[in-house]
Order: sequence, then structure tokens, then C-alpha cells
Amino acid sequence: MDAAAVKALAKSFGADQVGIASAKVLNAFPPDPLFPQTPERISKHVKSVIVIVQHIPVAAFRAKQNVCVQYIDMLVLRRMDRIAFKLAAALEDRGHPTFVTAAQETDWNYKKASYGRLSTRHLGIEAGLGTFGLEVNILTPEYGPRVYLTGILTELELEGDKPITEQVCIGESCSRCLYSCPSDAVRHFGIDKRLCSTEAQEFGFGQITGYVDKMLDAPLEQRKEMVKGQDVFGFWQGLLRVVGSFGDCPRCLAVCPVGNDYHAFLAEPQKEIPEKNPEKVAKAKRFKDARQQGTLPPGLNDWNRRWVGPEGYKGMVARQVQAFKKKQKEREALAEKKDA
Ligand code: SF4
Ligand code: SF4
Repeated sequence: MDAAAVKALAKSFGADQVGIASAKVLNAFPPDPLFPQTPERISKHVKSVIVIVQHIPVAAFRAKQNVCVQYIDMLVLRRMDRIAFKLAAALEDRGHPTFVTAAQETDWNYKKASYGRLSTRHLGIEAGLGTFGLEVNILTPEYGPRVYLTGILTELELEGDKPITEQVCIGESCSRCLYSCPSDAVRHFGIDKRLCSTEAQEFGFGQITGYVDKMLDAPLEQRKEMVKGQDVFGFWQGLLRVVGSFGDCPRCLAVCPVGNDYHAFLAEPQKEIPEKNPEKVAKAKRFKDARQQGTLPPGLNDWNRRWVGPEGYKGMVARQVQAFKKKQKEREALAEKKDA
């Protein structure tokens, strides 16, 4: 089987997008060489990683409550895992040992934050599916950051896709993700994962251990009340339905103007960013000045630039908006013609 046949198979199972990264390249360019999240650390037999993308349906980002995104996130992940498993089974049937790793797992031996055995965002970039945003989510040209990805590890040697060299993210002059972030976790092509987790994992592991810590220090009567508290209900619900355990804060995803789903359905409801304040505007300006003066942060150093888009931003979103508007006009003209 060649790369085109594998991609067609993945799409026939329901994958929105598919790309392929060579294990050799992934082994040579770990996201952080001190803590290599590489295929060779999982299996020395793996030759290629097939990366599939599932987009998060846009309607949830138009809803008033975050919980709508949280629930749909879980459904998207389940669907993605099913597609990945079907693909792995189909390749094995054809004589190519293949398996899937959990897209959302954390390896305790890596850094003290949520780092998996592989970084799905880096896999996606190496497989030519997008580049990093200012908040280091992967931005796909089609759906911006409103996606989930997983990697399917195969012993089949496949031709890898070429990474996108043009920066998909508009960058410092946009900074909408930074303005929207309730915990101010967005850095200059970086993220403070701990700050982000206070919002993105409202009832996640860090929150559970923090709550238990507080409970252990509290007087007996208060402890009894805490056991029945709303937070404990949130933890219980998170265990049952995953809702609340991750991906709870969709703000940086909702406001990112990359992707035709944004132009069609989010441009109007997400135009204003209520969380924007003078401090965040000043921070974005500092980032812009740093880029202009060449005092680049770690997120833009020679190693990491590879995933940001080494050519820099060249107007991809503006081109996308123009093409979208043109298509919209054509559709309207066609509808008018039909009505006449
Ligand atoms: S998920 Fe929420 S808290 Fe985390 S970076 Fe995005 S906007 Fe900030
Ligand atoms: S909101 Fe703007 S700055 Fe942030 S990731 Fe999207 S395009 Fe980049």
C-alpha cells in the first residue's frame, strides 16, 4: 500500500484530514530533545505515523455555555479513536503491524505537566496538516485550532508529507487568543500549561489534588461540607463523562480567525472579545516589538521555528477570507438565479 491508498482508506472510515509523518523525521526532531516524545521510544519497528484530524463541529462555539464544547469534544475524541482503530486493524489485515496510542494521555515520566508519549500537535505539523499558533495549538488552514488529532503508528514505510513552511497563524498583530485567555496563559508562541489548566481542566487532576490538599488542612466541620461540595460533583461527573477533565475552556479556539468554519459561522458572534484588557494589549505589543527587534523567545528559536512556519506569515488568512467571500457571492448569485 502506498501513502495515497492509506489516506483514502482513512478518509473512507470518516477522517476529516489525513497526513503522514516519517518516523525517521520524528525521531530526528523531538519537540524537546531533553524529553523526546518520539516513535522510537515506543517501538523501534515503527516506520511511519499516520495522523488523522477530526474537526470540532462549529455550532458548539456559538453556544452560550462552554459545556457544549466540552461534551462535543468527548464525542469527537471517541469518533477519532474508532476511526484510528479501524485503520490500524485494516492495515494489520493487509500484513502491516499497526497500533494507536492514546491521544490524550500524559506520561508521568516527562515534564510535570500534560505531555504524552507523542505530541499530537507536532505530529500534525510534521505530517503537513498545519503550523503552530501563538498559543501553540496546531492551526489547520481548514478549521484553525478547532480540531483533535491522533497518530497511528505503523511498520509500513510510507512517503511522508511535506510540512507547511508558511506560518498559518497571523501572529502578534492578531493576538486574539491572547486577549481571550481567561487565565492569561498565552506566551509568545508558548503557553503556561499550569495557568491554562486552571481553566482548561476545571475538574482535572491538578484541581483534584489541590482540592484534596485544601481538604486535608481544613477543620473537621469544613471538611464534611467540602466532601459534599459542587467541586466533588464536578470531579465525579468528569470521571463519568470526561466533561470537565480537559478542553473545558474553548476561548482561544473560538476566537481564532483561521479556517473557513470561522469565516462562515464565528466571525460575527466572536468578533468582540470581552476578556480583552489594556494589560493584554500591552503584552501583545511587547511580543510584536520583540519580533521586530529580533529578540526572539524560545518558541521562535532555531529549533522551534520549524513548527511555527519558517517562512513567517504571508497572508494566508486574508487570502482565505477573500476566497470565502467570492464563493459566498457565487452561491448567492446561484440561489437568486434558481429563485428567478
Ligand atoms: S484553553 Fe483557555 S486557558 Fe488555555 S490557553 Fe486557551 S484560552 Fe487560555
Ligand atoms: S488567534 Fe490569531 S494569534 Fe492566536 S493563534 Fe489564531 S491567528 Fe494566531
